[in-house]
Amino acid sequence: MNGCIFCKIVSGDIPSYKVYETEGTLAILDINPVAKGHVLVIPKGSSSSNIFDISAAEWAAVMETVRIVAIALEKALDADGVNLIMNNREHAGQVIFHPHVHLVPRFKGDGLKHWPPGKYVQGEAVAVKEKIRSVLIG
Ligand code: 5GP
Repeated sequence: MNGCIFCKIVSGDIPSYKVYETEGTLAILDINPVAKGHVLVIPKGSSSSNIFDISAAEWAAVMETVRIVAIALEKALDADGVNLIMNNREHAGQVIFHPHVHLVPRFKGDGLKHWPPGKYVQGEAVAVKEKIRSVLIG
């Protein structure tokens, strides 16, 4: 993980606007916000890249910080909602390979669009569901 920007933010080598901190997590303003108050929650540990290799304990700590900050964001910014987003791996849009969850405050009429909805053809949802369950349950 040497050279990772978020590791340098955690160590204090790169400055950031910290909004909240726990023993294992940091919440900072995103430098290029989708909306004012866009926050990133990151684990302080540097041994993982994304959801695929973060430990259960680190993930639990990240999620608890996400919960606390989401509540605070809505209150502090008088927002009408908050989106949680996590990009995992390059083709999912991940640019920084240190786990992080985006919190984007939302406002009525802000114009931000959700992903376009798709559709399953007849029988496809069952096949997809079975594929996923076979990995999870066997
Ligand atoms: P990703 O696409 O990996 O999920 O998102 C990376 C995020 O990190 C982007 O939203 C980007 O604006 C943010 N970012 C990149 N460099 C810095 C930085 O030096 N400081 C902060 N606070 N955010 C950064």
